[in-house]
Amino acid sequence: MYVCGPTVYDLPHLGHGRFTLVWDVARRWFTFRGLEVTFVSNITDIDDNIINRALREGSTETEVAATYEDEWWKAMAAIGVARPTTVPHATQYVEEMVTLISSFLEQDIAYVTSDGLYFDVSRVPDYGLLAGQPLDSLRAGARIEAHDEKRSPLDFALWKFAKPNEPSWPAPFGAGRPGWHTECVVMSLGLLGDGFDLHCGGFDLKFPHHENERAQSVAAGRPFAQHWGHNGWVMVGDQKMSKSLGNFTSLTDLLSKTDARAYRLLVLRSHYRSPIEVSPATIADAERGLARLDALARRFSLPSLAGESLVGPAAATFRGEAAQLVARVSESLDDDLNTPLAVAELFEALSAANSLADGGQKDDAEELAIAVAVLFGALGLRLEGEVSDVDEAAAALVSARDQARAAREWAEADRLRDELVALGWTVEDGPTGTIIRR
Ligand SMILES: [Zn+2]
Repeated sequence: MYVCGPTVYDLPHLGHGRFTLVWDVARRWFTFRGLEVTFVSNITDIDDNIINRALREGSTETEVAATYEDEWWKAMAAIGVARPTTVPHATQYVEEMVTLISSFLEQDIAYVTSDGLYFDVSRVPDYGLLAGQPLDSLRAGARIEAHDEKRSPLDFALWKFAKPNEPSWPAPFGAGRPGWHTECVVMSLGLLGDGFDLHCGGFDLKFPHHENERAQSVAAGRPFAQHWGHNGWVMVGDQKMSKSLGNFTSLTDLLSKTDARAYRLLVLRSHYRSPIEVSPATIADAERGLARLDALARRFSLPSLAGESLVGPAAATFRGEAAQLVARVSESLDDDLNTPLAVAELFEALSAANSLADGGQKDDAEELAIAVAVLFGALGLRLEGEVSDVDEAAAALVSARDQARAAREWAEADRLRDELVALGWTVEDGPTGTIIRR
């Protein structure tokens, strides 16, 4: 899968947090279901915003891009978004972009104006397919730029000729830099190949960005993405969260005020195609849900699942109600990633586990609680119970004991249990390994 990544010229905002969480959840779910996922997401490290910031701050484009790419990965780590398999940088693919643009120029699919090269969208018969609107209405809706050299207002820039004091790359048709739409089509096809499975991004990218990527692929005679995924945006009040509207609140800012897991739970509670509202009220509501999950983890001393690594196929060993939960949640998520339904099912199961435990059905309760933790773990949400209070020494003993048991070294496992007991821990053998409590 290919997910359009950020242009690194500022701190990531809440919308960035949402799209990365949504596609991280999709990736984790595919992996949990046994698919092998190659996840490519780019960094746009050259564009007008980066150039303008460098000019304003008296630094260089490279410095601006490096600074904000660093901020980007810090925020991603904080919200538990797994690193992409590959992270192409636009500036590393300029040569390939020049080759593609040259071929368009030779076929008169691209044409030259005084400020750059443009793509002639009339050369792609089904242009507008993603937007789902006829070409005429798109043309009428296209912003009329102060540019009378374009054949159609829908034609888009493939290449911008070099301006003084701006970074540029050599090209047979004149030095300059690539247009944004050309970056993604070259990097996605280059890294994932023709007809790759899934191309994702926010709804705002559907048109024109994704339409224009697709148009170039079609014009180059190469099959493009088989499926598309577009996530809804973030609302604050009734306004779309974006920098241009001036309601910019950085993701970094939010993460300094709340448990990062609350944002993931908030995102999971909405369908990925619906808008979400981020406000003190919706965050507080997510925090209350999180508190219930953590209380479950404490009550059953659940192991902390879903760390940094992606969880692979598991959960086949559950029985009874736990197995039914896994089946129901899988059905919901396999149906266009219906996370709100899955989360509702998981919270119902949480209540059921508590009721079973209250009624003395300890084993059934524990198995259901573990299934809840495993499934939230599959979505990248880690429950934090007592286990997170375990100090390093005890954690090391637990891990050594689990290894000893896996190797059937029972005497060593018993010795490690005694060592834990001597340190004041109660030791039990749970379905997923050693469980310790104070
Ligand atoms: Zn893109």
